[in-house]
Amino acid sequence: MTPLEPRSREPHPPDALPDLFDTLLKTYGPRHWWPARTVPEMMAGAVLVQNTAWIGAARAVARLEEAGLLDSWSALLATPDEQLWERIRPAGFFRIKARRLKSLAAFMAGFPQGHEGLFRLETPALRTALLGVYGVGEETADSILCYGAQRGIFVVDAYARRIFSRLGWTGAQAGYGELQRFVMERMPADAHLLGELHALLVEHAKRHCRSQPRCHGCPVIFCPTSSTPAPP
Ligand code: SF4
Repeated sequence: MTPLEPRSREPHPPDALPDLFDTLLKTYGPRHWWPARTVPEMMAGAVLVQNTAWIGAARAVARLEEAGLLDSWSALLATPDEQLWERIRPAGFFRIKARRLKSLAAFMAGFPQGHEGLFRLETPALRTALLGVYGVGEETADSILCYGAQRGIFVVDAYARRIFSRLGWTGAQAGYGELQRFVMERMPADAHLLGELHALLVEHAKRHCRSQPRCHGCPVIFCPTSSTPAPP
């Protein structure tokens, strides 16, 4: 493993978060997240993508769609477990995720007008309600808030933690709330902007800032950390 070496003694200040956003947007372009046609698709995808790559979750969502199981939450809730397992098998952990999907469906059954009824709640109440659903943690709840309900809230994940840590902005072990506050104090509370930032960080973590970083050619030229020597 190549040790990460500081490029300079002066890390770019954390107030440069908007600069990072601009740099990533210019480099990768708009990511058009969340990749879903409907809100129920988005919500199911947020559960199915837990601990797996999006490609597997997307296949599982498509298989639920084919069977008409995202047309109504009650249809999903009434589906025998074995059938649901088969449908969502591509997403991995299919037994656990089936249970989580059914919990979400049971929760949604309490809103006769579906997500439109749920999304009438104010953001704090909506977040609390989502976090009360079995299998919905902070990242899943905030994904639904940002991409489903269009609330200006930042979705934290391991990629954001890694990138901000390498930029010297937050600690490698920073908690969810700390990272979320870090972003929310520096960016407008705008669902489109914050959703784009999350998606751009994911893209950057896949292309360059991987667990073994590919710093050569990285567009974040102000990053103080690099696995390759700085040019003479
Ligand atoms: S890939 Fe880019 S952002 Fe990540 S550590 Fe290397 S230079 Fe920094």
